[in-house]
Amino acid sequence: MTNLQQRLRETLDELPKHVQLVAVSKFHPAEAVTEAYAEGQRVFGESRVQELLPKHDALPGDIDWHFIGTLQRNKVKYIAPFVSLIHSVDNVALLEEINKQGRRADRTIRCLLELHIAQEESKSGWEPEACCQWLEQGAWHDMHNVQICGLMCMASHTDDEARIRQDFRAARQYFNRLKQGAMADNPAFAIRSWGMSDDWRIAVEEGSNMVRIGTRIFGERAY
Ligand SMILES: *Cc1c(COP(=O)(O)O)cnc(C)c1O
Repeated sequence: MTNLQQRLRETLDELPKHVQLVAVSKFHPAEAVTEAYAEGQRVFGESRVQELLPKHDALPGDIDWHFIGTLQRNKVKYIAPFVSLIHSVDNVALLEEINKQGRRADRTIRCLLELHIAQEESKSGWEPEACCQWLEQGAWHDMHNVQICGLMCMASHTDDEARIRQDFRAARQYFNRLKQGAMADNPAFAIRSWGMSDDWRIAVEEGSNMVRIGTRIFGERAY
């Protein structure tokens, strides 16, 4: 077993059964994905279209590719034919484009809505109240080629665990509000994607059922 495979094993062993692991392979070569694949991992996360496309072409067809980074509308068409889940939808225009490209590809594309929960200005995401209100107003019912499967967020970039916990807790409260309200009749709305290498334990305690872990498995990224 390679070091990478060992770190993958340890990560999987620590995760509760109900929490799905997205192995974030961004900035690591296809060979690293192959190592994890050989150990049984099938769900991988990438954050750039120009990196995802060659990996998708080179690697086995039964990989579930999740897109987790900022997505420009003009690039949706490249990933629409195969992407398994887009975590980072943070505006209506992007969702409309995904719907349009889903129709062209004759697919229903699974999406998470990314909430801006963290304190920093720089973090991406939909302003939570605006996102909830948009869902509550119901226009998403007419988008037949997207399926809204839950929420994603990133916590504040800090060592303050209380702050991080508070962020995840806020995300969970938005999730519960939608699950009991606007999304109550939508059983697919079930994914809570929060938690990365440094904060996944807190995230799981605060209701995450999907963690996106890169560094802990693949090592430091070379930018
Ligand atoms: C890079 C990235 C991750 C993984 O981060 P690590 O700290 O390496 O685990 C998770 N989510 C998003 C959105 C990312 O861009």
